[in-house]
Amino acid sequence: MKVGGIERLSLIDFPGKIAAVLFFQGCSFSCPFCHNPHLVDPKQFGPVIPLPAIKEFLLSRKTRLEAVVFSGGEPTIHPALPSFIQEVKEMGFLTKLDTTGIHPEMIESLLKNNLLDYIAMDIKGPLERYSEIVQTPLPTEKVQKTISLILSSTIPYEFRSTLLPSLHQAKDLLAMTQMIQGARLYVLQTFRSTTTLSPLLKNAKNFSKEEMQSFQQLVSPFVSACHIR
Ligand code: SF4
Repeated sequence: MKVGGIERLSLIDFPGKIAAVLFFQGCSFSCPFCHNPHLVDPKQFGPVIPLPAIKEFLLSRKTRLEAVVFSGGEPTIHPALPSFIQEVKEMGFLTKLDTTGIHPEMIESLLKNNLLDYIAMDIKGPLERYSEIVQTPLPTEKVQKTISLILSSTIPYEFRSTLLPSLHQAKDLLAMTQMIQGARLYVLQTFRSTTTLSPLLKNAKNFSKEEMQSFQQLVSPFVSACHIR
């Protein structure tokens, strides 16, 4: 299990909680707009932070941190993730997973064993365009299975999508919303990064505030809440 970075204190990654964020190395996708290429492209990987050092850090912050966020990259590509999350829960922290949903079996087990207090899943595009958008051949049933696990879970969750004019049109967003119809929260994220996995998207145009607001109006009837981030 490889953690390539830690954010020691975050007020925005776990809604309403003071959290540390662990960034896992490796991802099954190659989204061209990825703003964490150093966690996705093995050639750009930095040094791994040893697990004992992470545990020592978390124990030293037990009174100041409320939660730990497991992010990436894609944390669920690491088979040892569930036992690590269990250890972190036993330390007394709330836990949140950020995921692409590519490993529904692991997510099902994490939910069944009450190891998560919040889950955030990316929706990259309409199912028929998923492989094209994440630049990886993909059995989309896995994405659908994870969506359905999350929709029927009892923990707080959010689905979220980073939107770019070069990849998403209104009809795509509507198709994406149909995939998660009835969700408690759908977050639309404005693409802002100047560091991207594909150099072609460096400084790519983003949607204006007004365009994002019109997307919010478009999808709001189909979910309980839609926020722009
Ligand atoms: S943006 Fe895509 S490539 Fe980057 S970490 Fe997320 S899923 Fe992986």
